[in-house]
Amino acid sequence: MARVYFLLGGNLDDREKILSEAISKMKLEVGELIRVSSIYETEPWGFEHESNFLNQVVVLESKLSAAKILDRTQQIEKDLGRVRKNNQYSERTIDIDILFYDNLVISTDRLMIPHPRIQERAFALVPLLDVASDLIHPVEMRSIKELYANCPDRMDVKKFKQ
Ligand code: ADP
Ligand code: MG
Repeated sequence: MARVYFLLGGNLDDREKILSEAISKMKLEVGELIRVSSIYETEPWGFEHESNFLNQVVVLESKLSAAKILDRTQQIEKDLGRVRKNNQYSERTIDIDILFYDNLVISTDRLMIPHPRIQERAFALVPLLDVASDLIHPVEMRSIKELYANCPDRMDVKKFKQ
């Protein structure tokens, strides 16, 4: 069994409902739910006309390989994240990124684990602090707490819901 950390995010449609639907599907198709962070809201900077993002970190125990998990989470993104408009698929409403898979380090075209931008993004580090503040990043070799203390991203990440 592997312990797998995901960052969920979305800024379209009913953002909270889509997060909870994604988690339900992940419980069925990826593994056992261990922990979820609070939901956080982040203002997109540079995109004045878009709505804010909600982000949440989810921790699962899974017996699937990382590649298989990506197949399943990409299918969940498709199932949930596309709304039909004029017979065409439009924007994606949910993004599911794999942050960590145990201590595994993978770097292929399709899959990079740990996710390469965790340490630069307050909207990933803040929800991670809820569920894994002492987790050691297997490449940076520092805890989430330490990475956040040193993170240059000062974007406002507000608690949306406990
Ligand atoms: P982004 O998450 O960067 O906003 P996408 O969700 O469209 O954009 O993902 C682009 C590609 O990133 C995916 O097709 C996937 O193969 C790749 N990818 C690489 N590493 C990861 C990871 N750790 N988790 C999820 N996708 C990943
Ligand atoms: Mg993604």
